[in-house]
Formats: sequence, structure tokens, C-alpha cells
Amino acid sequence: MNAREDLVVDLSTFEGTKTLALTIERPFPHEVDNTAPIEIAITIMKAAASVVVQGNVKTKIKTECDRCLAELEIPVNGSVEATYLSENDKDIVQSEGHIESLENLFLLTGDLLDLSDRVLEAIIVEVPQKVLCEESCRGLCPCCGINLNDDPDHECSKREETLDKWHQKLNDLKKSVSS
Ligand SMILES: [Zn+2]
Ligand SMILES: [Zn+2]
Repeated sequence: MNAREDLVVDLSTFEGTKTLALTIERPFPHEVDNTAPIEIAITIMKAAASVVVQGNVKTKIKTECDRCLAELEIPVNGSVEATYLSENDKDIVQSEGHIESLENLFLLTGDLLDLSDRVLEAIIVEVPQKVLCEESCRGLCPCCGINLNDDPDHECSKREETLDKWHQKLNDLKKSVSS
């Protein structure tokens, strides 16, 4: 299975609780670069006025080291927590001024419950902004871009060149100013 359509649940087809257990290859090709199939286990609990959704989402994400740009694969273990209220209930909650204090509250429109955004969010919030291949990663040489983890004793020839050029330019500039 590969489509996010598989994450649309028809609420009219069951009473009480339904468990959704799916493995989907790449449902979000533009948003998430997952290297392992996304394992989804979600419980949907129907009550009189609301639907409560809880579960977890597991996959692996491709990313890169913030310093040396090495490709990395990190495990992601996200959770889904959401409450869906029908249109009418939302008005009640809103009139009591509670809506802002309730997190993960969504509006139910019709019998089709699309959980794909919940699954996507669960993954995205778990992906760290900055990842290092190792805490001690030396990164890249700022002058030539060589990976300093591969060559810790790197003495950059480009750096000398760059400095030489810079000095040359500076000298030229001085000459042009003084002449
Ligand atoms: Zn690194
Ligand atoms: Zn270098």
C-alpha cells in the first residue's frame, strides 16, 4: 500500500472502537523522505459526540549531518493524539471559551475521517532540526569542502591560496588608492 487514501476511515462502518494497523511505503513523497515503510497503529474510539484517535507511527527518515552533510537515517517514533468534534459540538465548546485550551482538537465533517495529516504531523514533529552524525563530527573544511572526519590532519592548500589571493587584492587596492 502506498497511498494516503488508506488513512481515510469511514466512521459509518463501525460502532465503538476500531483499530487501524497499516504499513504504508511512501504516503507523503513530497513532505517526508522515509527510508523505511511507515508503520501505523491507531485506535479510533467513537463516542456520542466525539471521536478520539490515539496511536503511534514508526518509520525511518533520511536526513543529513548538520556539519559534514553525511547522509543519515534516523528512527522516528511519533504519536497521534486527536479529538474530533462534530460541527455542533464545536459551537458549544467555543461558546464556553474552552477551544483554545484544548489541543489536538479537530472538526469532524461527515463520516470520512482523514488521518493522513495526523500521521504526517506525528512524523514531522519528531524529526530533529539539527542532527549530527557524531557529537564529535569535525564537519567540512570551510575553504575546500573536504570532510574533516576523513582527514583530521587536513592542512588546507586552498586556504593558503585564498589568503594569498586576498592579500594580493588588498595590495592592489592599496596601490590603487595611493596612486
Ligand atoms: Zn557529520
Ligand atoms: Zn580544506
